[in-house]
Amino acid sequence: MTDDCLFCRIVAGEIPATVVHETDDTLAFRDIGPKAPVHVLVIPKAHHTDVAALAAADPALAGKLLAACGAVAGQEGLTGDGYRVIFNTGRFGGQEVFHVHGHVVGGRPLGPMLS
Ligand code: 5GP
Repeated sequence: MTDDCLFCRIVAGEIPATVVHETDDTLAFRDIGPKAPVHVLVIPKAHHTDVAALAAADPALAGKLLAACGAVAGQEGLTGDGYRVIFNTGRFGGQEVFHVHGHVVGGRPLGPMLS
């Protein structure tokens, strides 16, 4: 937990979020500004800055995070038509919140990956 981290504060219950999936180690909640009919953020409860830092520090937790992304996709009914999991990383990657999160996005055709 870091006091100045938005997603740590969501984990702590200090900021409300619409939680759709939770395990001992992960939390998934709807993005406040959805870019598609389904747009869920999946995070480890422990603070890690980005996906590379998480994978280096705790590979088992990285696996649990990916499993949680898959569980959310299934729960949200995305597995038939497909979906995208995005880990924006760093400034050029468009990362705005520096607590690693996978965007699980789907429910419509998503088009080309890069723009
Ligand atoms: P990033 O650009 O870091 O990959 O994604 C950050 C995401 O967090 C954005 O899609 C943004 O809409 C979302 N977000 C920012 N603040 C909040 C918040 O307070 N609650 C929720 N649920 N999502 C947030």
